[in-house]
Amino acid sequence: MFGLLSIEGNEAMNDRVRAAVVRIEVLKAERPIYTEILEFFKQIIQEKEDYKKSLERTLVPVQINEKLAEVKLKEGFPLIPLDEIKCNYPLMREHFLKLLANVKERVGDAVRDIESTMEAEKDCMKRMIQEALRQEPVSKNSLLTFILNETVNPLIELYASFLRDMVREGMWTRGYCPICGGKPFVGVLRGDEGKRWLLCSVCSSEWPFMRMECPYCGNNDQKKLSYFMAEEEEGFRVEVCDACKSYIKTIDERKAGIEIIPYLENIATLHLDMAARNRGYRNEILLIPGTTEKALG
Ligand SMILES: [Zn+2]
Ligand SMILES: [Zn+2]
Repeated sequence: MFGLLSIEGNEAMNDRVRAAVVRIEVLKAERPIYTEILEFFKQIIQEKEDYKKSLERTLVPVQINEKLAEVKLKEGFPLIPLDEIKCNYPLMREHFLKLLANVKERVGDAVRDIESTMEAEKDCMKRMIQEALRQEPVSKNSLLTFILNETVNPLIELYASFLRDMVREGMWTRGYCPICGGKPFVGVLRGDEGKRWLLCSVCSSEWPFMRMECPYCGNNDQKKLSYFMAEEEEGFRVEVCDACKSYIKTIDERKAGIEIIPYLENIATLHLDMAARNRGYRNEILLIPGTTEKALG
């Protein structure tokens, strides 16, 4: 019976792809420099939704007791019981190889590196998937990390949807995700008072967070926190922490004045990452392959 369970209807998924495609066209028109990378992600988004539909068919829902959830959250432990996540290895392998084939034309060398790793170690896929599930660094090869994340994170995202409702306002004040423990990739300011939300780079959950605190190191010394923004880009800012030298991009929904999709805005603001890096700050969340080695140098 669980095999037929549908977390969200196909309609919701299709709507999400449609909204992303519309937004991609707007962003391409506004910032043509990002055309190629946005086209690449258009394909990634479409394939991800198809893949999620296939994963969903074999998913076994997880539940945790409400009392246990409260204790875990209070102690700072994310809710997902990683050992209960069932991997459909053949399906995951198939998706992984499909993504790899898609990028072969662009980045043949990096793909060949990955292929030789796979030839040298039989069954490495299982090991890599398990490591990625535990959010351990699997490889220095950013393409491999990206493709692995694209293979594993949709599964974590589906499991996260069973547990999201258990986190209620005020139960979580940490800088990592209450559901899966992932780090935030971007922040959003919402509502009349500009309440700050962080978005998980792994499972797409969102949680409220202090305005003046670094999510990566917990520093809340106001003298060591500041932000900058690019001219004529009201609504987008980069918050920096001088305690750990990290930065996180933040979108002020009130000023952005448009229907934004944070995942896409993150891609179409790579110039802000470059500016942050030029100022000596870093962010290790890798959502875009190659940006650590090439584009951002
Ligand atoms: Zn998460
Ligand atoms: Zn910090």
